[in-house]
Amino acid sequence: MATKTIPMSELALRGGTPFRGPDDPLPTSTPRPVAPEASEYVNRVLDSNFTYDSIGEFERAFAETMGVKYAIAMSTCTNIFHGLLAAKEIGPGDEVIASPITDYGTVKGILALGAKAIFPDVDVRSGLVTAEEIEKVITPRTKAIIAVHMYGLVCDMDPIVDLARDRELLLVEDVCQAPMAEYKGRLAGTIAEVGCFSFDGGKHLSNAGAMAIMDDGELAERIRFVAINRGARPAERGTREHAEFGHAFHLGRMEAALGLANLPGLREIVRRRNELADRLSEKVRSIDGVSPPYVPPNCGHAYWLYYLNFDLTRFGADIGEIIDALNAEGLKCGPAMYYLIPYSHTFIQDREEDLQRLKNARAHLAGMARWPWSEHYTDDDIDDVAEIVAKVANAYQA
Ligand SMILES: *Cc1c(COP(=O)(O)O)cnc(C)c1O
Repeated sequence: MATKTIPMSELALRGGTPFRGPDDPLPTSTPRPVAPEASEYVNRVLDSNFTYDSIGEFERAFAETMGVKYAIAMSTCTNIFHGLLAAKEIGPGDEVIASPITDYGTVKGILALGAKAIFPDVDVRSGLVTAEEIEKVITPRTKAIIAVHMYGLVCDMDPIVDLARDRELLLVEDVCQAPMAEYKGRLAGTIAEVGCFSFDGGKHLSNAGAMAIMDDGELAERIRFVAINRGARPAERGTREHAEFGHAFHLGRMEAALGLANLPGLREIVRRRNELADRLSEKVRSIDGVSPPYVPPNCGHAYWLYYLNFDLTRFGADIGEIIDALNAEGLKCGPAMYYLIPYSHTFIQDREEDLQRLKNARAHLAGMARWPWSEHYTDDDIDDVAEIVAKVANAYQA
């Protein structure tokens, strides 16, 4: 794979035949699976005239699956972070450390509460935050850390847990892309004080909604009070007292019913995604100038995204053209700079300063082509993906 140079003219981008054309497209992450039991659970909600507590049951099933005491279902994970930080009374003057490479959902709550989002740099190989980089940005105003398991890869949590404990900071895991990924034999989301999962349309579980998990009963009660029960508590004669500014970030019964049906299938989705990604990574390693995702020892993966890193010093094209060429061959992918929050979120203050400092984050993303991973590939599809990458890489080899 490594040596043959393909004439530019053979690239589909230059009018050649696409490796996987429109008649024979590669699978994508959609359609998302719906368990055969889904209609049974949904009908149970309907047949009970909305008295069947599918939400409570989904929470119990999720907590049991993860091996934790409490699970709280909410409408989105974006809202979970907002509700959780509100429950911890984080506000103006406070700082919350988040990964710079993540989704808007990780930071919306911080910004909505008037706190400041602080972005440490990352490990250039994995794109994940580390204890070392987090420590550099801790100040007396720091209140919490949100460690994002980006792409589905779990952060090296042990040193981060030690650091957070040492500095008495709330530590939260953003597990939206990494459900069921393992870290030293523990499930992602069960390592920090709180783990937060998303079930939005593109995630491994796609029933809509989100879940926060934890073992601390007092914290669970506090989150319910602020994030779901709108800061209100029962008062005399069936009235209620609104004691605090609260939110109504609850999940709906229908989504919970779908979640209950789909949850048992999650482990197999993640297992297959790992198997397929490992197969591709093995093949990509033999292509000159291209690297598969870096997976450190002990840090498990759930592969929500897969990415390739092109060493741009080795190719006679920029990443944009390489991505166009991959797309033309039938591998639908895009650049990842979008995920660098201070880069893509133009309304955030001090972003120029952040971008100067986030050297590893920028380097990690600069030569990247990424796409949503899928459990729907066959082994042959994976072999074709590797062939497409080799074809494009060989054509542009400098
Ligand atoms: C999807 C995602 C979110 C937001 O989750 P929603 O349920 O869509 O609000 C947050 N963080 C990461 C890393 C995500 O991938």
